[in-house]
Amino acid sequence: MTASRKLASFRLPPMPTVGELIKLYNLRAEKQLSQNFLLDMKLTDKIVRQAGSLRDAHVCEVGPGPGGLTRSILNGGATDVIVVEKDTRFIPGLKLLSEAAPGRLRIVHGDILTYRMDRGFPVNISKPWGEDPPNLHIIGNLPFSVSTPLIIKWLENMANRTGPFLYGRTRLTLTFQKEVAERLTASTGSKQRSRLSIMAQYLCTVRNCFTIPGRAFVPKPEVDVGVVHFTPLVQPQIQQPFKLVEKVVRNIFQFRRKHCHKGIEKLFPEACRVELTQEMMQKADVDPTRRPTELTIPEIRALVDAYAHVCNHEPSFLNYEFREELRLKHLARQRNMPMDAFMDTPTGTPPSPQQPC
Ligand code: SAM
Repeated sequence: MTASRKLASFRLPPMPTVGELIKLYNLRAEKQLSQNFLLDMKLTDKIVRQAGSLRDAHVCEVGPGPGGLTRSILNGGATDVIVVEKDTRFIPGLKLLSEAAPGRLRIVHGDILTYRMDRGFPVNISKPWGEDPPNLHIIGNLPFSVSTPLIIKWLENMANRTGPFLYGRTRLTLTFQKEVAERLTASTGSKQRSRLSIMAQYLCTVRNCFTIPGRAFVPKPEVDVGVVHFTPLVQPQIQQPFKLVEKVVRNIFQFRRKHCHKGIEKLFPEACRVELTQEMMQKADVDPTRRPTELTIPEIRALVDAYAHVCNHEPSFLNYEFREELRLKHLARQRNMPMDAFMDTPTGTPPSPQQPC
């Protein structure tokens, strides 16, 4: 079979349009599930093109809804598509689509936040981490309500090579609120540089592909939408456990307009804050008066490595959380009790600010 004939055989037969299906099944958008549909096939095709070739690909689509993007994925040549949809009302329309593409579409009624993608696809599609990515893609016009927790969860999976990354360096093509897309891809020194920029960019090559105006969706959301493509790096730019990186980055960015040492200090209990911060900054060779948004990933790597070094000597710092200490202090003040009275609460036991360093 010639290549063009093979691709033609992937294309779906004539069917009712997505708009007609929405009317047929009376599918009113549920705000609670962040439902904003894309009915323009030119746009759904454009999103799918950002993933690269889908010829014979395995794809997991998040939240197919009435199936517009699903059609573009199937027309792009994917031969094994799993769609994960939380809202039962879309299942009959998706079944119709599955009948039009026999053997190519599997429907999962469930929540993407708990779905075990590592069990969804055959093991033999896996590629070793150091090689090219597997022919497996995650694609989705994500519900806004889950997009940030979901990408954080997948970044952690990526760091640990679990979940979708058990198959290798699985690529993702996803939509986000435009501001979130800008934060994910913001470079050093830009206004949007944030915790999300570092967490995504230390693990992947991240590309902000294009922006879709809010008016292209039905119903129209209040914001525009950015399409972002992620390819996991063979070698992450920071070689420390994800949770440790996340803790240092979160602390650095908690005072994003101040000098970076301000946030770093809060990694340590009050009694040893200044001394250990100085030690950490010197070891990392980072100027303490730089702003968090100005730090490069190699500088953040040096800071995370320096923090790991300090924690090797004093492991109890790993459990220290400045915010939790503040919360307990506030509680103690409210109830007019010494802070020690809250130390054995089920919410955890932070080291005392008086702890010897
Ligand atoms: N893909 C469709 C499109 O582009 O027109 C619908 C996109 S709409 C923004 C998000 C979809 O995700 C909805 O169908 C919604 O029901 C579904 N959804 C919301 N939360 C979900 C979750 N936790 N797991 C799976 N699907 C979810």
